[in-house]
Amino acid sequence: MSIRSITKKFISKAAWRAYNTYRKGVTYGSQLSRIDALLNAPRAAISAFQQSQLEKLLRHAYRTTPYYRELFKAEPSDISQIPPLEKRHIREQLARLCSEAVPQQHRIKNATGGSTGEPLTFYQDRNYWNQRNLSVYYFDQWAGWNFGERQLIIWGALSDMGSPREWRHQLNNFWRNHYWLNGFHLTDLRMRTTFQQMDKSPPQTILAYPSSLYQFARFIFENGLKPRWDLKGIISSAEMLHSHHRDLAETVFSTKVYNRYGGREVGLIAMECEEGRLHINCRDLYLEIDSPDPYTEPGDILITQLNNYAMPFIRYRIGDIGRLSDASCPCGSPLPVLAELLGRSTATFRTRTRTLIHAGYFTQQFYNVVGLEQFQLIQETLKHCVLKVVVNTQWTEAARRYMVQKIQEALGADVIVTIEFVKEIPLPTSGKREFTISKVTASD
Ligand SMILES: [Zn+2]
Repeated sequence: MSIRSITKKFISKAAWRAYNTYRKGVTYGSQLSRIDALLNAPRAAISAFQQSQLEKLLRHAYRTTPYYRELFKAEPSDISQIPPLEKRHIREQLARLCSEAVPQQHRIKNATGGSTGEPLTFYQDRNYWNQRNLSVYYFDQWAGWNFGERQLIIWGALSDMGSPREWRHQLNNFWRNHYWLNGFHLTDLRMRTTFQQMDKSPPQTILAYPSSLYQFARFIFENGLKPRWDLKGIISSAEMLHSHHRDLAETVFSTKVYNRYGGREVGLIAMECEEGRLHINCRDLYLEIDSPDPYTEPGDILITQLNNYAMPFIRYRIGDIGRLSDASCPCGSPLPVLAELLGRSTATFRTRTRTLIHAGYFTQQFYNVVGLEQFQLIQETLKHCVLKVVVNTQWTEAARRYMVQKIQEALGADVIVTIEFVKEIPLPTSGKREFTISKVTASD
């Protein structure tokens, strides 16, 4: 490392400390060691901590929010008896979900873009954000991240980023020692400039949307460039990480990709360890699977967020499907493991025989179809799908037949596939690419 980059890291580390202490009121050094002690304690101690947090939250929700007061009828003792919180409840009863004990000026508004284009607005409080940030700091260390070390961020959500010309964004990047590549508009020129900049001042880690990371890795690979950066790890976040994303990025950057699973509504849900397993963030949330047997049968993930007292999320159906594992992980972490994460329930297709086909199947089959630039598969009904494709001059009739055949193999030979040739597939406001959308629900 050059003297310049050592100095930069030192200054940035001090700035992080000052920012957290004076702006946010968090002395993260001591808090991170407390988190470390808790999350490495025996499983029984972690469960006891969760249980006491859960009891406190349920009491608070019952006593101070109109929605839960009406729902619970009496102070609840068994969480599994509480009906899950659905997105439509938040849309329809937002005000009644907020706690009367938290003044309006202490509520922080947040929203998700929504995979089907329908945004969801909700509230969080300062403590939620402090705990959320601490958890991100804590778990990102699993991927080699540390305060002040240079990080390349390939991100798209405009609300997280501000306008790139905005001086605050520039200043933030400077003191945080970040370099930002806009994942929304990855042009060859921008990717080349970023590559050259990283060559001059190498990052220690990358934080990225997996689809943007994949595009960047593909650009580097196809142009015969060789990163000379000794990366400690890559953090993939905000979208489903597919195996072809991971494989190419790990090859091109010669390092491991760590999947960080979370949601704007509830924060960091699980983080991948060095052994490749997703450990649940039991400090901030209580996770359940809505399934007769969560260890063998995948089901909807239900999250109870333990720190957000402004608007309690209790058994919130986040919209992803998963399964638990009861095996202990060789990495030594006592945190329970999410064995399978099948991604969004709206991205998971259902067949007439009740089989679940997840988005990964289609991305796996289609990512190297010659002539195909982009695709989006929409399951309209159990019998009908729309396949939107952006193609180039190499596209052939054989490619079309191949894609239809693969869809019918998964969903049924008699499923009708309508192909639409389009100029582009618009990005939803969240900036997360949707390769697959299913409008079929469990009750169809
Ligand atoms: Zn592990």
